[in-house]
Amino acid sequence: MKTKIPVAKPYIDQEDISQVVEVLRSGCLALGPKLIQFERNFANYIGAKYACAVSSGTAGLHIAVKALGLQKGDEVVTSPFSFIASCNCLLYEGVEPVFADIEEETFNIDPEKIEGVINRKTKAILVVHIFGQSARMNAIMKIAAKYKLRIIEDACESVGADYKGKKTGSWGDAGVFAFYPNKQMTTGEGGMLVTDRKDIYELSLSLRNQGRGKDSDWLAHERLGYNYRMDEMSASLGITQLAKLGWMIEEKAKVAALYNKYLSDLTEVVLPKLGGHNTQSWFVYVVRVRNGRRDKVMQYCTDNGIQTKPYLPTIHLQPFMKRQFGYSEGDFPVAERVSSETLALPFYIGLKERDIKKICGVLKKAL
Ligand SMILES: *Cc1c(COP(=O)(O)O)cnc(C)c1O
Repeated sequence: MKTKIPVAKPYIDQEDISQVVEVLRSGCLALGPKLIQFERNFANYIGAKYACAVSSGTAGLHIAVKALGLQKGDEVVTSPFSFIASCNCLLYEGVEPVFADIEEETFNIDPEKIEGVINRKTKAILVVHIFGQSARMNAIMKIAAKYKLRIIEDACESVGADYKGKKTGSWGDAGVFAFYPNKQMTTGEGGMLVTDRKDIYELSLSLRNQGRGKDSDWLAHERLGYNYRMDEMSASLGITQLAKLGWMIEEKAKVAALYNKYLSDLTEVVLPKLGGHNTQSWFVYVVRVRNGRRDKVMQYCTDNGIQTKPYLPTIHLQPFMKRQFGYSEGDFPVAERVSSETLALPFYIGLKERDIKKICGVLKKAL
């Protein structure tokens, strides 16, 4: 059997473990001090007034859509090149996602293509910062101001990234982060909504907690809500993970630099590019494989014990999206072209230089 190199792996140290064990010993497993501490630390880190921890990134996005009052009949402009959750959170509320194609180099929504799809039903732009790199927020904020649109940032892949020195998630009306084990930092399952708006914050607290009011009785419910709470073990992990996030991002940048070095002579492979004004928070290491050979390269990697992922399939061509909205191939050509060529390589803290050499050797052979 060949040793398997996984595509992603969380980084958990002794401090993470001992703090979670302490929570277990404390007997307070939900709605306790760790939740409040994690929210405070996270809001500070992002530079936002308020933070509301939730059970997943998807839950946070759903709350953001509800808290902004988006509903059936509304349209929201978003990217077709994303993880499905950034679209699903709109569909949960009967809001129609309207896609604008992406930029060829950064894979983020192309601000130049947004205005063309805005109409009287458009209420918001849901910006996704893909693969740890911010979308061009200056241009997007200008469009939002011109048409009086709300902004939700799906920063689930971009914790720690900034654009012109301002962190992703802190630009819009609400920003949402995710802490699934493959993200830059993890709480197991978990997510966070940040905002500077008190009304959105208070509504979010209620929506995540079964629609309870601020001071209402445990069994009194002011609105339709959900159980989207984050437990104390997760919050504790969030605190210790956040404390070393800067270091973890740097470690991943080192891995990325090694890939860049060992892949530089492969002309069929396009390396990740950073747009102007961006700092990258490394989430995944994604290359483009030219000449229609991505799937063959993937298969060859699998045969050699190396796990890779085709990040990401376009959202509009998912089977249920085609059925519901009648999308077909060719609707968003840039996203589709990128999507047919992108390949995520193994990428995590502790990935050894000799493994990276091996992976790059396998890619070379495959090509
Ligand atoms: C991971 C991710 C999410 C959802 O996060 P979960 O915690 O898995 O619900 C949403 N959007 C994007 C772009 C993501 O990468």
